[in-house]
Amino acid sequence: MKIIGLIGVISIGVFLMYSQFYSARAYAQPAQIDPSLRALLPEEREITDKTMRLFSQNLMLVTMGHERGEELFRLFVDHHIPLVIEQLGNGRTVTRVERSTNSTQFSFFAEPWDEEETFASYLPQHRELRIGTKLMSNCFFGFIAAHEMVHVDDFVSGRESPAPSGSDEFVAGEIRAHELEFELIERWTRGRFWTTIGRVERRLAKVGRATPFTEDMREVDALFPPSESDIERRMRNGIYVLAISFSRIERFGLPDAYHQKIRAYRETISAH
Ligand SMILES: [Zn+2]
Repeated sequence: MKIIGLIGVISIGVFLMYSQFYSARAYAQPAQIDPSLRALLPEEREITDKTMRLFSQNLMLVTMGHERGEELFRLFVDHHIPLVIEQLGNGRTVTRVERSTNSTQFSFFAEPWDEEETFASYLPQHRELRIGTKLMSNCFFGFIAAHEMVHVDDFVSGRESPAPSGSDEFVAGEIRAHELEFELIERWTRGRFWTTIGRVERRLAKVGRATPFTEDMREVDALFPPSESDIERRMRNGIYVLAISFSRIERFGLPDAYHQKIRAYRETISAH
């Protein structure tokens, strides 16, 4: 096993309207190896184990009976490595990841810091999945877990290689992750998600508006249990806005729908 060092304060670049979005994929520069390695403290071990359990349970909850979803669940169960050692130094968080030589494995890191605005991210260069510890409803935790596992799968399978944030390849990866997430949401709501999104989208189109009103957001939100935290509320809004854009693109059924989705994704980001 090789021990490497990372600087833990990483700039995370994906924003959606209303919020810094949970699905950021960040690209950290490898840092110098810290000579003072230490084991996880008992409370760090506890929070990592708890977050991992929640990730696994909620991923299973939303993927059971869905072929692709179950594949992603197996990928998580079989290949995650629950070990990150961290410490504070010079006011910044330093993390060190114990990595396996097996190229299909990835590290799992629970991010307990209060100031953390991003709920989940995958860092392909370090094969590191970072999950926040803020409260989250079970179903949305599961949808996000599935979204992140699409990124993990894309990178470990070599389907995707690290690309600059905002590039076509990067956005294409995000769209793949969101589309799987939407599929699971549609199943979870027993077919009511796209119907509701479509109704809102047509209503907005009638008044020539691209962005939803608060009441529109509430209408979609009523399909799910209440949000458990501010970060969940912001994250859900981001998902609904993106779904409305995609729904509009699908409704027009144009041949370049895929490129329009890339454009819509970027517009949603830059609207922040
Ligand atoms: Zn993502």
